[in-house]
Amino acid sequence: MSAHEAWSLVCRLFAGGTPVFRGAMSPAEIRACSSLGPAIKPTVVNRTFTLCPYCQLRNGQIFGDGQGGQICQCPDCGPIALAADDRSAVMLDEGWLRSKLRIALEIESRDGVTDLGDGVWRLGEARREPVLLSRSLTRLWAEPAVFDRIRVPGAGIRVIAPRAAQLRGAPFATGIEWLAMEERFAFYGGGISFLQPGIQPTGIESDSPWTPVHGPFSVDHKWVTLDSWPHGPIRCTDRQAEVFKALWSFKGVEMHRDRVMQRANQEGRKPIDPFKVKDRDKGKPEHEGPLHAYRELVHARQRDGLYWMPRASPNFVSA
Ligand SMILES: [Zn+2]
Repeated sequence: MSAHEAWSLVCRLFAGGTPVFRGAMSPAEIRACSSLGPAIKPTVVNRTFTLCPYCQLRNGQIFGDGQGGQICQCPDCGPIALAADDRSAVMLDEGWLRSKLRIALEIESRDGVTDLGDGVWRLGEARREPVLLSRSLTRLWAEPAVFDRIRVPGAGIRVIAPRAAQLRGAPFATGIEWLAMEERFAFYGGGISFLQPGIQPTGIESDSPWTPVHGPFSVDHKWVTLDSWPHGPIRCTDRQAEVFKALWSFKGVEMHRDRVMQRANQEGRKPIDPFKVKDRDKGKPEHEGPLHAYRELVHARQRDGLYWMPRASPNFVSA
């Protein structure tokens, strides 16, 4: 799933803290880059050395080839001609990451970000609890004094950090809660969402609230996952989810709009009503997403007032 890949890439880039050559990325990561939009910045790495485009293992010094082009002198492969995009790399916009994490945790905006050095930031306070972002757990194990610098009397501390391979059990003493970046946050709608443990419906094997269960819909119809939408799983409002759930329940059979709205427990005249995007929200993925899903999934014969969802049919075969 692309949103999952996108978030994994964010975590990997943040943990590494350096640009990554496009040539060294998997096709899934290249796709993830485009869905991440402004979170990813193109860059050019080091003009003296470059990753060898042939083996993609060693760095070689860059020389001119005497004809206006460049070659990489790889220690293993020898001289390899460089194409223009061989030195192109991407990096994470870490300012984007910090600001979206602050929004996800509802950190008060008057509380600024403090750079504590060596890949540790104080993001601010969420419900009076200081929140730290750290590039690694190891960094904090090496200098636990950093907690004393931000501690608030009577409040716990939360630490956002990527997983560490050497981690066994809880990483910190009581009072310091670790939020594993890979698992407790997710990329969606162009931003970051904080995943509260225990909100997933029980009894269903679902590792994320948006895991598709009914076709592209999550178990509660509040999330839709579509390949055609580049911003990750689409989060619907309660009213939108009710309409999707009602249409889903008719299993692809054409239904009159009145019956659809009745089953969705709604006053509106047409199923599309809760999906309309207000002028001030035009172009915002979190508002356009549900409408995009509606347009892709719901078919209508307006003249007869009939609506249906082909995907809900037991005979649906994807194209
Ligand atoms: Zn090489």
